[in-house]
Amino acid sequence: MDRVRRLRRSLRRALTTPRISTGNEASVRRYAENLSVNVPVIYGMLLLCMIMLATRFYGTAPTWLTVVAPTLLCSFGAWRLLRWLPSGVRARSDAELVRDVRFIARSGAVAGAVSVSWALLLYGYGDDHQRALVQLVVTIGCLTAILGMPHAPQTALRMGLVVILPAAVFFMTSGQTDAPYVGMIELMMFALVIHVTFGHHRDFVKLDISRRKLARREAHAARLADENLTHAMYDPLTGALNRRAILRQLDQLSADLSTPQPWLALIDLDGFKLINDTYGHAAGDAVLRAVSGRIAECDHLLAYGRLGGDEFAAVLDGALECSAAVASMDALSVSVRQPIVDRGAVLRLSACVGLRRTDGLSVGESVERADAALYKAKAKGDGSVAVFEADDEIALQQKRRTTRSFNECDLDARLRLLFQPMFDADQGRVVRFEALARWSPDGKIWLSADHFMPLAEATGRTDDLTSQVLTKALRECRAWEFDCSLAINLCPRDVLRDSAVERLEAIAQAAGAPNDAIVFEVTERGLLTDPALAARQLERFRNRGFRIALDDFGAGWSSLSHVQKLPLDCLKIDRALTGALASDPGARAIAGTIAALAWQLGIECVAEGVETAGQAETARALGIRLMQGYHFGHPLPIGDALDAMRRGSQTVAIGGSA
Ligand code: C2E
Ligand code: CA
Ligand code: CA
Repeated sequence: MDRVRRLRRSLRRALTTPRISTGNEASVRRYAENLSVNVPVIYGMLLLCMIMLATRFYGTAPTWLTVVAPTLLCSFGAWRLLRWLPSGVRARSDAELVRDVRFIARSGAVAGAVSVSWALLLYGYGDDHQRALVQLVVTIGCLTAILGMPHAPQTALRMGLVVILPAAVFFMTSGQTDAPYVGMIELMMFALVIHVTFGHHRDFVKLDISRRKLARREAHAARLADENLTHAMYDPLTGALNRRAILRQLDQLSADLSTPQPWLALIDLDGFKLINDTYGHAAGDAVLRAVSGRIAECDHLLAYGRLGGDEFAAVLDGALECSAAVASMDALSVSVRQPIVDRGAVLRLSACVGLRRTDGLSVGESVERADAALYKAKAKGDGSVAVFEADDEIALQQKRRTTRSFNECDLDARLRLLFQPMFDADQGRVVRFEALARWSPDGKIWLSADHFMPLAEATGRTDDLTSQVLTKALRECRAWEFDCSLAINLCPRDVLRDSAVERLEAIAQAAGAPNDAIVFEVTERGLLTDPALAARQLERFRNRGFRIALDDFGAGWSSLSHVQKLPLDCLKIDRALTGALASDPGARAIAGTIAALAWQLGIECVAEGVETAGQAETARALGIRLMQGYHFGHPLPIGDALDAMRRGSQTVAIGGSA
């Protein structure tokens, strides 16, 4: 009810002031259109009534009453009739309609009063019949005028008060025999008509409110639909299409056989993680936004989107030759290399791109091939672009077969271990063996871990693999019985998985191996995903007596802060650094610093990948006592490793005197 009152008030305001307030224009227009249905009819009827009266009284009443006054009144009526024709109302502006509505609200009553006054003036000149006609015309005319304005109760009421009431009083006091009855009937009819008009008006207002509500709801629903569409299609961070949307676009573009098959480019950022870790997530977000903007500016771009993380996809015009597509992506690579400035920090990174023409392939097949090309680009180096070629198809099929066979194989039967000795220069003997796994897809070819570890990760069998390696290693190489230890490489996931400690300890116990004879080697790269969790997990390993070595230290990922935070027993200097020891003073300085750091932390330091006597001597000169590498011994089958253990110190010696 409150709403009805509020809207009525606002309508009234709209009618009585020339100002159009925002939001009521639609109501005023609807109101005026409603009026335009009846107003011309009312005026038409009143015109007829006036003409009838004027004609009936012509010759009886003075000319100014039968000719001049009706002419003026009829002219006014005709003007209003034409003004309110529906077609004219529809064509007028909101502002004009407000003026018209205001005018009718004020002029209606005045025009009614003047017309009735004219009719009552005629009344004095007529005989009984003419007077009865006046009574009839006045009564019917007034009621028609009021009834014809069902949506303007205020106007109707005003008209009633200034027209019908005086007319009724006039008739009742005229002294005519039947006139008082006519006056009373007029009053009763007036009350009834006003009642009906207000009822109509209330319905109109209610209808208008529900129309507005509906319009608001529709607008809200349209807004929601818009938002949903945005969420469903766009990546909120970069504004690029999201994974689903860009892949759908790719599907649609490659389904259009009237144009050449488009190129799919997969774009992956190099060094994004480093920026995220070093400068924080806000900087990472700024980088993603900037790169997305740079992709958007590429030439020959049909669509682009973010696949997730730091990976984007671009669809390039199929009319491009291969060399042109590569040139376009080379240009993108150059553009991505331009520094990105974020809140004072200058961020630098590059992007690798893998390209493949869709060539009637499904979306999944195209992505798989572009991804393989991206892998090739990554291998070429940061900022490279590579195309998926015919040879790659053969390699891809091969990889598929190998992955399937890794997934399905009995690891126990298909795994073999080699053991590489680690030499202690002070003691002059082998003190540890590192177990290095080989896997065979068919029992004939044996692949090194670099080749099958990605398969283990892709098939989710890394923990299976580690368990098998540890079980086999402890069974074959009981190093502790020769006063040696055994090193086992862990996958990053092994370190982070909650149950890993218990699982590996159970294997050690089952083999009867003392925990402190086992060294787990972990790479720093594997720990970076969650350094805090990794530190906690490593501590749990150490609490149970296992020892932890940080593998491949100094291989580009190393950061001294990690070494201090992680619970470690050993640093293994990466073999790339060891290889440069004899020739590169910089490498010597870094290796020397690592050795000094290990000494200060009270932990072991191993130089791995020692291939020459020169490297061994340099390492020794830097204070490194533990060494591993072809110079001291290749990874050996278990029989040879056992021989080496039995022979102990006679096996190897610094300076190649083995
Ligand atoms: P890594 O742990 O750094 O192992 C040393 C790698 O360097 C071995 O390669 C070894 O054969 C090679 N190597 C040893 N001395 C020399 C040398 O003097 N010169 C040169 N050029 N290379 C030398 P491999 O066996 O192919 O293993 C490669 C990597 O695969 C390993 O690097 C390790 O990260 C991983 N891996 C090996 N076995 C396992 C395993 O059982 N589990 C896990 N998670 N990873 C393993
Ligand atoms: Ca290792
Ligand atoms: Ca290593």
